[in-house]
Amino acid sequence: MEKLQNFIDGVYRAPIGGTYIDNFEPATGQVYSLIPDSDERDVELAVEAAEKAFPIWSKMTTEERSKILVRLSEGIERRMDEFVQAESRDNGKPVSLAAHVDIPRSVSNFHFFATAITHFSSESHYMEGEGINYTLRKPIGIVGCISPWNLPLYLFSWKIAPALAAGNCVIAKPSEVTPYTAYLLGKVAEEAGMPAGVLNILHGLGHKVGDAIVKHKRIKAISFTGGTKTGEYLARTAAPMFKKLSLELGGKNPVIIFADCDFADMLSTTIRSSFSNQGQICLCGSRIFIERAIYDKFKKAFVEKVDRMVVSNPTDPNSRMGALVSLPHLEKVLSYVELAKEEGGTVLTGGVKVQLEAPYNEGYYMRPTVIEGLAFDCRTNQEEIFGPVVTITPFDSEEEALMMANSTEYGLQTTLWTSDLKRAHRVADQAQSGIVWINSWMVRDLRTPFGGMKSSGVGREGGLEALRFFTEPKNVFIKY
Ligand code: NDP
Repeated sequence: MEKLQNFIDGVYRAPIGGTYIDNFEPATGQVYSLIPDSDERDVELAVEAAEKAFPIWSKMTTEERSKILVRLSEGIERRMDEFVQAESRDNGKPVSLAAHVDIPRSVSNFHFFATAITHFSSESHYMEGEGINYTLRKPIGIVGCISPWNLPLYLFSWKIAPALAAGNCVIAKPSEVTPYTAYLLGKVAEEAGMPAGVLNILHGLGHKVGDAIVKHKRIKAISFTGGTKTGEYLARTAAPMFKKLSLELGGKNPVIIFADCDFADMLSTTIRSSFSNQGQICLCGSRIFIERAIYDKFKKAFVEKVDRMVVSNPTDPNSRMGALVSLPHLEKVLSYVELAKEEGGTVLTGGVKVQLEAPYNEGYYMRPTVIEGLAFDCRTNQEEIFGPVVTITPFDSEEEALMMANSTEYGLQTTLWTSDLKRAHRVADQAQSGIVWINSWMVRDLRTPFGGMKSSGVGREGGLEALRFFTEPKNVFIKY
């Protein structure tokens, strides 16, 4: 059985404790590799390596750092197929999704920040008759990057790339559920000529090695993407140590569909926004609000389309949905279908496990699920399910749609469908979310701020926001 290793100080190493955790293949339900069960000793080793590397990396010219990161991005691109296969196998997502979204977007992330840093400027403020201020933006030092399992390399790179570009050394931990592409990244970093100790990748359990990263005194900032509960714990732990914190947390995103929308475009995009990656994207829309005039038309067309979706093993080219990421997660999602029924909902389609033939007969598959008849404020409509389950609810006015859309503790993303320009702007303005997509979904311009309000997070990633997060501003005043 293959044993993954930590990547510390430019070399692959076994965990100091010598123990490993099983890594399951969601498509088959079988263990296919072993992951280091790292602990605080491995973190200490990585911090020592990063401290040695920091003067080299932070003092390198921006152009040199940029070149190494461009090579890193090209290195992933060269090994595209290896990364695509690994991501699909580790996560259960269709190979086609990893090939079109996850890995190309990871390549773009590294390339974007490799070049963005060469355009990153600081400010100066002139005070008439007094003097001039200029603001330096210095790397923070050693930073921790912790990411979840749903878009493994994509979200990992979303943090690591700006952190490195800004001149920091990184201690990163992918989710223990999907470690493989992060494991491959070490090799690519080495080939790209990244000095040893600049990027350190540790594997293991969140509450063990993740916690040790968060608590380490010499790790000065934490960039975290994951669940809201974990984020709350991280904030409680890191805040008294005055660490910089960026938190990208859960979502329960609304999709608001007005009767005047482009129906065909809306319908096919809403299928994607509901079920891409088995509904396991923080940006998926899980509460669909439809103007009453087209509610029945939408319901019929949507359910018909969902019924036709092929759930199959990730390597099947016809597969529109692969396996959910783990057995506990599948059980959690199915338990929400039961809750929805208890709360008075009607399951229009799905809600059940899918049994595939061997060797996929123990994989974690379920049908895409559509539920109607629930109150907007019931638990099914308020709590994050993070799976292929959506609810549909009619509305009678713009005010009612907004009230229901804004009713959760979350505020990550809102999708709007309408042809009325004034209404589009008005509703976007009042949506309580960090991101609004109008007549589209999942379109990402890497320069734009990314993140949520309310319990969906603190701070923003993306573009210059990320470079600002990973630098410490220092203002200098010179008197005339
Ligand atoms: P978790 O919060 O369980 O885990 C996220 C990461 O944190 C994992 O690497 C995990 O390790 C680690 N971790 C867990 N506990 C601790 C701890 N005490 N200290 C340090 N690290 C810890 O989230 P999931 O992996 O289940 O991801 C799904 C969640 O991520 C959903 O809520 C989703 O909405 C959110 N998400 C948010 C996004 C956004 O941009 N806002 C984007 C994508 C997902 P381990 O896996 O080993 O437990």
